[in-house]
Amino acid sequence: MCESCGRQLHHPLAPSRRKFILGAAAVGLAFTNPATARGKKKEEDDDEKKKKPPKPENVISPDASLKRLMDGNARYVGGVARRHDFKHEREALAGGQNPFAGILSCADSRIAPEYAFDSARGDLFVCRLAGNFANDDSIASLEYGVAVLNVPLILVLGHDACGAVDATIKSLKDNTTLPGHLPSLVTALSPAVKAVSGKGGDVLDNAIRQNVIDNVAKLKSATPILSAAVEQNKLKVVGGIYRLKDGKVDMVA
Ligand SMILES: [Zn+2]
Repeated sequence: MCESCGRQLHHPLAPSRRKFILGAAAVGLAFTNPATARGKKKEEDDDEKKKKPPKPENVISPDASLKRLMDGNARYVGGVARRHDFKHEREALAGGQNPFAGILSCADSRIAPEYAFDSARGDLFVCRLAGNFANDDSIASLEYGVAVLNVPLILVLGHDACGAVDATIKSLKDNTTLPGHLPSLVTALSPAVKAVSGKGGDVLDNAIRQNVIDNVAKLKSATPILSAAVEQNKLKVVGGIYRLKDGKVDMVA
C-alpha cells in the first residue's frame, strides 16, 4: 500500500528511485569535491608551468652560456653534432621559450648559428641581417631576449669573406651608390671599413673583425636595457668570427 495515494504497488520502484536519487546526490557530492580539487590542482599546475622555464638547463650564467656555445661549436667542427629530437622539443616549447644565448649573425646562408653551435630548438635567440650590425630593430629584438626571456649572453657573429662588408669596401673605394636599399648596409658598415683603411693587412678581414668589435661595443652601451643588464652582470656581450672552411668560431671580443 502506498502511503501517499492508498493504491497498491502502482510504483513498485519507488523505494529504489528514492535510493537512486539519494545515491545520485551522494555520487554527485562524491564527484564534486575531487573535481573541485582537481580543478584547483590544474590551476596550481598551470601556475607552476608558467613559473617554470620550459628548458631549465638553459638557466645558466653568461660564462656558462659562452662555454656551451664553444662546446657546441667544437662538436660541429668535429662532425660529431648531436641528434636533435625536434618532435618532443616542439611539444615542450609550445608554451614558452628560454634560450640560453642571443646571436646577432650575418644573414649569409652558410653560417646557420643553430648548426654552428650544435644547439636545439629553443636554445638560441637569433637576429640575422647582412653584415651582422646592430640597428634599432636588432637592438629591440635583443632587448626582448634579455629583458623578457632572460638571455644571459649575446654573441655578435661575423664571418670571413662577408659579401656585405666587401660590397661596402668597394662602394666606398669606387664612390658608387648601390641599388635599392643596399646603401643602408653601406652606411651601417662604413665606420668599420673606414677605421681599418690605410692600416695595412687585409682590408676585408680587418673590416670584418672591426665591425664585430664595434657592434659588441654598441650593444654593451645600448641604453637603457642592454647597458643596465651588462652593468648588473646579468649579461655579457661578446664577438666571434665564423670560418667558412671549417666552421670554427674564433672569439675576437
Ligand atoms: Zn656576411
